[in-house]
Amino acid sequence: MMVRRDTLARACMLDHPPTAYLVPVKRPDGVAEYEVTWDDLARDAAWTQERLQALGLERGHCALVSFSGHEGAWFQPVIEALRNLGATYGTAEAMGWDHARTRVFHRELDLHAVLGLSTDTLEALSGQVMIGDLFRDTPVILVRPGAAERLRAAGVRAGIIAPLGPALAIECAERSGAHVNRSEWHVSERDGVLAVAAVREKRATGLDEIVLDTAGRVLTERCACGSDDPRVVLG
Ligand SMILES: [Zn+2]
Repeated sequence: MMVRRDTLARACMLDHPPTAYLVPVKRPDGVAEYEVTWDDLARDAAWTQERLQALGLERGHCALVSFSGHEGAWFQPVIEALRNLGATYGTAEAMGWDHARTRVFHRELDLHAVLGLSTDTLEALSGQVMIGDLFRDTPVILVRPGAAERLRAAGVRAGIIAPLGPALAIECAERSGAHVNRSEWHVSERDGVLAVAAVREKRATGLDEIVLDTAGRVLTERCACGSDDPRVVLG
């Protein structure tokens, strides 16, 4: 135990490398990799916390966060935000095979929020339950775009949470487009597809515009929720 404590104490004193993740981003010309630093993650978590707070999440609430192992750069800030809010959370893998975990959390916890469900998970769940019945009474449902469409068709007022290139887009209660943090990203439209560029030089993606392979448009006027963060409407 002594040895372990010493080792941990020493590890805490070491500078960790600034890079937390390398994220692959699909562009029309192939996949590019971008660096995400620990500082980036901390700022992303602070913004995410504001967004979740605006949706009514608070201390004591329970949330389920569903994401895949390679999506840490986008979902670690979500976890951090929930932690800072004092919410209790469970995580499930976004791949369809882990859908049973979503059901267990749904049964065992009084979920206030379900964040990040994928189309695969919904697909797997819909073979067993009426997904509308499962999620209709959950106050905050933010899922992947395909899953949102499906849930809306089933009568659930689902919003969107989704990686947008290296950024994260989070829809507010107005359900009129998913917000992107304007202190970090410029979002724009290039011939019907979306593009993002970092606002700050310290963001390791660099300031070059990253054209995505995601179709959509950008709304820049202030949202009825009061936020000036631009919104993307996908599709
Ligand atoms: Zn809004």
